[in-house]
Amino acid sequence: MREVRVRFAPSPTGPLHIGGVRTALYNYLFAKKHKGKFLLRIEDTDQTRFVPGAEDYIIESLKWIGIHFDEGVHIGGPFAPYRQSDRREIYHQYALQLLKNGTAYYAFDTPEELDRLRKDSETRKETFQYGPQTRLGLKNSLTMSETDVKAMLESGEHYVIRVKIPENETIVVQDLIRGEVSVDSNLLDDKVLFKSDGLPTYHLANVVDDYLMKISHVIRGEEWLPSAPLHVLLYRYLGWETEMPEFAHLPLLLKPEGNGKLSKRDGDRLGFPVFPLQWTDPKTGDISSGYRETGYLPEAFINMLALLGWNPGTEQEIFRMDQLIEAFSIERVGKSGSKFDPEKAKWFNHHYIKMLSVDHLALLLNKILTEKGIEVDMEFVKKVCSVTSERAVLIPDLWEHSSFFFQAPKVYDEKVVQKFWKPETPALLEKIGLLLREISDFSSENIDAVIKSFIFENSLGMGQVMNTLRLVLVGGSFGPGVASILSVLGKQESLQRIHKAANQFMQL
Ligand code: GLU
Repeated sequence: MREVRVRFAPSPTGPLHIGGVRTALYNYLFAKKHKGKFLLRIEDTDQTRFVPGAEDYIIESLKWIGIHFDEGVHIGGPFAPYRQSDRREIYHQYALQLLKNGTAYYAFDTPEELDRLRKDSETRKETFQYGPQTRLGLKNSLTMSETDVKAMLESGEHYVIRVKIPENETIVVQDLIRGEVSVDSNLLDDKVLFKSDGLPTYHLANVVDDYLMKISHVIRGEEWLPSAPLHVLLYRYLGWETEMPEFAHLPLLLKPEGNGKLSKRDGDRLGFPVFPLQWTDPKTGDISSGYRETGYLPEAFINMLALLGWNPGTEQEIFRMDQLIEAFSIERVGKSGSKFDPEKAKWFNHHYIKMLSVDHLALLLNKILTEKGIEVDMEFVKKVCSVTSERAVLIPDLWEHSSFFFQAPKVYDEKVVQKFWKPETPALLEKIGLLLREISDFSSENIDAVIKSFIFENSLGMGQVMNTLRLVLVGGSFGPGVASILSVLGKQESLQRIHKAANQFMQL
């Protein structure tokens, strides 16, 4: 195999959809697996769709998930520049080359004229195509005299350069995922390659850059499959057929219900992010949620994404990045779209949170505490994590499931009070308070043993005592085991909470 060089080539038209992140991930895995190079090229030739901030967003997103580039717009490299708007002088010569060898032509039809043709076709329930069937009846260098063309160009008239699609030919694209894809050339149109504003369109710039940057494999979303026959033709017309990259078009990410492409609207409707990071629309100020801000770990996010379209051929589901690199192969990417499953995304995150060390969990929780202005000893935060993190699905759950350790209850759940509070409860609590005061080993095991023998000796109900204690410690009927809560809170804080509740409810 030739040296593997792959690229991620997003257009900075907004935040990166998770489908785009998956494309970047598969390219990265492929590059690493084959000890090749991975580069980031920004395709911004369509200035009308440019969105400020999108390029930085793309770079930050890929950094968050741990994708590293060997070359790219943000780090340079031997084929710099890597932003197409910085390469604008490069493309014109190739458009001229195509004009010269007769595989492209100038067209002078105005947008209004083309619009009229489109509308006329629509009324006949047809679709207008600028191509083999129509081009000889239109205003272009195939139908006009050389002198007229020259005059038009010199007068600064609006023009475009179009590719001349061959007639009656079957164009074959070899796709690593789909096999042979054949298209009848009569169904293709003479796409615009270059515009009089001096900029190429996506098709020309993409092919020229892939060639100049020595790209060996083009791995991209299925939405680009219809463009592939044109790209194959351009390689031929430019005389680069032998250096043409191999193509692999990735299946779509589908809505959770399975019909149609996953969209931002699905995310809004079903309450999950479709972008890796939070994004603020620079025009409207609208905020779209991101996986990072929602509390996903990047390891979980990439694991989940990797399995949406690729399968390892085994039952294994948990893959870290190095394992993905090891196991990945294009041959195991499926042809059909993959349904996005928001619950599965949570399942992965829960798994990866459970795998974190207490030190790591404590750092995550401490970040939330700092944001809330709560300053506590790290050892205490670690203890809290060791008894509460098991059930956390998203990072904010570390706080949701533990806030009572940092803030004594101000209110008590009315329902739980009704159920467990009896006239003798304050006296019982005082007794337990005295008992706890005497314990020197304040480990949860010891506390548990002491409370249980107290319950047994006094013939009390286990549920009654434990639920009442839990109520006064946390304010409701949630949290880890009562003995663990007491142990982590420590003797002093536990006794304070018990006394406070006993006094507050004395009159009940
Ligand atoms: N600029 C295209 C995009 O935004 C790249 C398609 C390709 O990879 O060829 O997805």
